[in-house]
Amino acid sequence: MKKSSLLKSSTLRDTDDTQSSSSKLYSGSTYSNTAASADDVIHNRCQTCRKNFILRRKITCQLCLAVFCSDHCTRKRTLNGAKELSSICDNCDLEETKKQITEEIDEEILKVTEELKEVRETNERLFREHVNKVSMVNDLDMEIKKQEWNMKKQEQDLQAILETEQIRGLKLRNAADNLRNTLDELNISEKTMSEQTNAAEFDLENTKLILSEVITQKEDLQAQIEKIDISLNESLSVEQVRKMLCKKCLEIVNVNIAKKKDECNY
Ligand SMILES: [Zn+2]
Ligand SMILES: [Zn+2]
Ligand SMILES: [Zn+2]
Repeated sequence: MKKSSLLKSSTLRDTDDTQSSSSKLYSGSTYSNTAASADDVIHNRCQTCRKNFILRRKITCQLCLAVFCSDHCTRKRTLNGAKELSSICDNCDLEETKKQITEEIDEEILKVTEELKEVRETNERLFREHVNKVSMVNDLDMEIKKQEWNMKKQEQDLQAILETEQIRGLKLRNAADNLRNTLDELNISEKTMSEQTNAAEFDLENTKLILSEVITQKEDLQAQIEKIDISLNESLSVEQVRKMLCKKCLEIVNVNIAKKKDECNY
């Protein structure tokens, strides 16, 4: 908008210049008495070189609608999306080119701004991701430390259990050893006792044997004594019998006689 108004004002200024210069140009010519109107100047002379169109082709610029000679209206452009080309004066072409360049620059700036925005967003996203990752790494680190601590504790617990078990095992082994020793002792005493029992049984048998022998001897003696008594009653005196006996039998006889005497005394 500003550009088009600028263009218009410059065109107007040119027109003013044309008016003053044309009055100079025409002074001293055949038409000096007749002042050319402003309208004639605008429509009958090139707005760039001020030359008339008697020997030159007159071209109207389709943008500013001013007239120019073929030397100063050389450009062609498509206007307002039209398909065919329109003639454009060199001034307008320059302005259009400037406008295009400005638009391109604006577009470029917009694009760069957009790209910058994207880059900034990407940076922010990356930063957030980085922060998240750092946080995750910290969490993992903490988790690992926690697990390490737990494992260490479990290891310590197991070590304690192992030590307790070792002590228990040692105690059990000692108890087993003690029991085994006691059992051995019991076995030994059983053996001794059975040996002693055997010996005692043997002694008892011996004693019984001796006793039975003694009984037999006693019966034998009794029989002898009775025999002797009978024979005594038949013939021999006690003194005679005594002389016939051995020392051992004599003793037994004496004891028996003493007993009999005691029985009689009662
Ligand atoms: Zn006119
Ligand atoms: Zn010209
Ligand atoms: Zn123009």
